[in-house]
Amino acid sequence: MVAHEVAHQWFGDSVALTRWSDIWLNEGFATYAEWLWSEHDGEESAQQLFDMAYAGTDWRQPAGDPGPDRIFGSAVYERGALVVHALRRKIGDDAFFRLLKTWTSERRDGNGDTAQFIATAEKVSGKDLDTFFTAWLTGTTAPPR
Ligand SMILES: [Zn+2]
Repeated sequence: MVAHEVAHQWFGDSVALTRWSDIWLNEGFATYAEWLWSEHDGEESAQQLFDMAYAGTDWRQPAGDPGPDRIFGSAVYERGALVVHALRRKIGDDAFFRLLKTWTSERRDGNGDTAQFIATAEKVSGKDLDTFFTAWLTGTTAPPR
């Protein structure tokens, strides 16, 4: 829980949302910080936590644009973290951790939205990620792992 709340200093406080529908940018990354801390602390690895969350996710509920009734639902937190870990696997650790630093430094003390995050991810990784984000963030069926 401490890792989650500390992560919000960057994901939520320094880089604030432009729209509530993008709240996965806060909660998905803060939940993923819990996974990274677990791994660092010798508990379950991020991959193990991904595997458990993947199996338990209701894929009918999108993480992106969840709707006002589900703004703090598990899709935003758990599925949001699934998106983050899947992105890490898609672009590799080097690009992934550069992306985190780029996003939080370029948007420091400002705002961000999902489209801007995707654009930054594409710029840093050099990959077209539209299909990836459609499947993982807003798709209503489980994307291939
Ligand atoms: Zn949170």
